[in-house]
Amino acid sequence: MVDVLVDVLVVGAGPAGLALAARLAAAGAGRVAVLEREPEAGGMPRHLHHGGFGRPPRPWLRGPEYARRAAEAAVAAGAAVRTGVTATGWAGPLSLDTTSPAGLERIRARAVVLATGARERPRSARLVPGSRPQGVLTTGELLQSVHRYGLSVGRRAVVVGAEPVARHAVGTLRRAGTDVVAMVTELPRAAAVPGVPLLTATAVDGLRGRGRLTGVAVRHRDGRSGVLACDTVVFTGDWIPDHELARRGGVPLDPGTRGPCVDASFRTSVPGVFAVGNALHGIERAATAAGEGAAAAAPVLAHLAGAPWPEPGPPLEVRPPLLWVTPNRVTGPGTAGRPLLLRSGEPMTCPVVTVSQDGRLLWRRRITGPVSPSRSLRLPPGWTTRVDRSGGPVVVAIG
Ligand SMILES: Cc1cc2nc3c(=O)[nH]c(=O)nc-3n(C[C@H](O)[C@H](O)[C@H](O)COP(=O)(O)OP(=O)(O)OC[C@H]3O[C@@H](n4cnc5c(N)ncnc54)[C@H](O)[C@@H]3O)c2cc1C
Repeated sequence: MVDVLVDVLVVGAGPAGLALAARLAAAGAGRVAVLEREPEAGGMPRHLHHGGFGRPPRPWLRGPEYARRAAEAAVAAGAAVRTGVTATGWAGPLSLDTTSPAGLERIRARAVVLATGARERPRSARLVPGSRPQGVLTTGELLQSVHRYGLSVGRRAVVVGAEPVARHAVGTLRRAGTDVVAMVTELPRAAAVPGVPLLTATAVDGLRGRGRLTGVAVRHRDGRSGVLACDTVVFTGDWIPDHELARRGGVPLDPGTRGPCVDASFRTSVPGVFAVGNALHGIERAATAAGEGAAAAAPVLAHLAGAPWPEPGPPLEVRPPLLWVTPNRVTGPGTAGRPLLLRSGEPMTCPVVTVSQDGRLLWRRRITGPVSPSRSLRLPPGWTTRVDRSGGPVVVAIG
């Protein structure tokens, strides 16, 4: 096995890992290596051919172009972006084993950053009763079939879900020549796509067909039921952080996000190990993931310069219907006043968000407008300076 030594090892060459690597390399962090298991760098946007990537006022880019530019920027800054290399496990606290067509390697680093993105769980599809005919896809399988392999997926499709990823699935199906007959969501309300019937408060009750899918049985909350005739169904929206490597390295995970538990400087509880991007919280916009990567550069540089690793501070906890908050611990003021991300499991209108610790109110604000389960709220971090570092959990609630 080849033994390699670098200063910073970034696992994952998506928007988050590439933005971080570009910043670090430009700042003279030493040898910055980025590992990517796919044959090309760029992460998820490589497979997303719609426009909508980047940050205004710049013109929106298509995913592949955005991915290409991010990879070029990291390489131009001096980072070594290595594709076709998978980090498989840990050989020590800051030492990872990798595999690639060239063989096995052990890479030791002074800092490791997990930027492994999010993955889709086929769970929602698995839990649906009925046969397992052809034509049952997740969003990832749909994108791969259409964009990577140029396959036609079917003639009539039902999309399960109504969040932004579901709307992209509708666009991909239409571009592939498939008629989208309905979107189905258990949520009481959701934004419709023009020309596609939206069934809210409706659950998928079963799949019909042998060999090929012939229909999706649905049941409305009020008891009405029926079968939507189709040859394709796409289950969307069940994304969780790709936390496999973190778990294997004993990096504690947050029960809400199911990603590595981090403070506002992207530090996990394992000294020298950081995490950024969708690996922390599931799907957010690419600009959010890249922003986290860029913001993590300063704390990584501080660690390389010998800054002490802080004790894990009080945990941040959420109360239902909130699902998660990130960062997950309060150790200090964090990076440049970045907002916290907060996700509700239910749609709400103009709710009040409170933050408290040991019964002491730290912050309270009414949100103007609707809160959606498919979009994160951003909490300003000013109140974190009032947290008692040796106190109990900091509780975020909404109502
Ligand atoms: C259908 C859909 C539509 C979207 N549309 C938009 C949009 O219009 N605009 C927008 O801004 N965002 C959009 N997004 C979100 C955007 O793609 C993501 O937020 C962004 O890609 C996250 O970046 P990341 O670096 O955190 O993760 P990723 O892009 O997922 O990159 C992580 C990388 O890590 C690699 N990796 C994982 N584990 C290992 C390992 N062990 N070893 C080596 N490599 C590893 C993976 O192969 C992957 O390339 C969309 C997402 C989806 C699913």
